[in-house]
Amino acid sequence: MVEKASTTLQRKVAVIGCGIIGLTTALTAQRAGFDVTIYTKDLLPRTRSVRANGSWTPDSRISLTAPAGPDFADLWERMARISWATYRDYLGLPGNPVEFIEHFVLSDRPFNTPHEENPDGRTGDYASTGMPQHGTEFARYSDRIKDIVPAPEELHPSENPFAAPYAKRNTLMLYNFASYGHLLMSEFFQAGGHVVIREFHDPSELTSLPEKVIINCPGYAARDWWNDKSLIPVRGQTAWLPPRPDLPYGLHYQGASAVSKTDGLMVQAYDLNNEGEMGSVGNSFEHPDRSESERAIKVLADLFARSPLSEG
Ligand SMILES: Cc1cc2nc3c(=O)[nH]c(=O)nc-3n(C[C@H](O)[C@H](O)[C@H](O)COP(=O)(O)OP(=O)(O)OC[C@H]3O[C@@H](n4cnc5c(N)ncnc54)[C@H](O)[C@@H]3O)c2cc1C
Repeated sequence: MVEKASTTLQRKVAVIGCGIIGLTTALTAQRAGFDVTIYTKDLLPRTRSVRANGSWTPDSRISLTAPAGPDFADLWERMARISWATYRDYLGLPGNPVEFIEHFVLSDRPFNTPHEENPDGRTGDYASTGMPQHGTEFARYSDRIKDIVPAPEELHPSENPFAAPYAKRNTLMLYNFASYGHLLMSEFFQAGGHVVIREFHDPSELTSLPEKVIINCPGYAARDWWNDKSLIPVRGQTAWLPPRPDLPYGLHYQGASAVSKTDGLMVQAYDLNNEGEMGSVGNSFEHPDRSESERAIKVLADLFARSPLSEG
């Protein structure tokens, strides 16, 4: 987007939205020499972005293969490589805005057993229903960058400290939003950026802005106010427990995950009903469901209750 903006003769850019995408775009535009104003309903701490897990997972449901088209894979790879290189600069800073953590995927079955999705009677596909119906419709690009991203390795039973028979370990780049968001906002203001709190209701309102180059980053809200029905909601249920700096890792097991972040232990219920990737796709319900979080916490509590780790 910033490359496109650079082809104009304009030096002033408006960015709509101050979620992680709007703020990152604004900083990228500043580094390219633009004078940037962010127009937004809410600042970063009140956006959907800070409720995310915060793992560097650049192809996770980024698009569907067919509507994205064949050229998108090359563009995605270029963006992913730039992103990886850029965020390495934020490692090792006070407050750990970005860090690497160990992450374990645990299973009761061998990893090469095919995952049996419960498709819940879904038929057709995106082309026929306007909504993806199977996990196989999502584009997978991660093989393109396997030369730079640490590969997962399966643990030998003698190395596996968990009470699940199969375990894989990998290293994840992770964002701690409290310090990361604070750092990005500080960088933006230090580089002369401006923020205007404003809510837009119709695309025609953008013509009233003084900037002629506008980069639109309103996130999922674009589905309504920009009428972009190609945006598909994916629900996630998260809960935050007190921080556990003594357990600096993350894990997935039986549809529940936990990741230890500087501002809390984040527990996510992502597939408790074994619906595979499709369970939350198309679900725009944003209210917290405490019972779902309690189920996820119970999965993990049961795991640790029978774990050799709990005895030590
Ligand atoms: C449970 C969960 C876990 C996730 N985990 C990950 C993960 O590990 N890794 C990952 O990469 N992604 C993850 N995601 C996805 C990630 O959260 C989103 O892709 C990302 O936050 C989108 O950021 P955004 O800046 O586009 O949108 P938002 O954060 O929604 O920000 C939109 C901005 O636009 C503004 N805005 C909206 N409408 C208007 C309007 N009408 N007028 C003015 N301003 C407006 C808002 O105020 C806000 O500032 C996860 C999502 C969920 C739900």
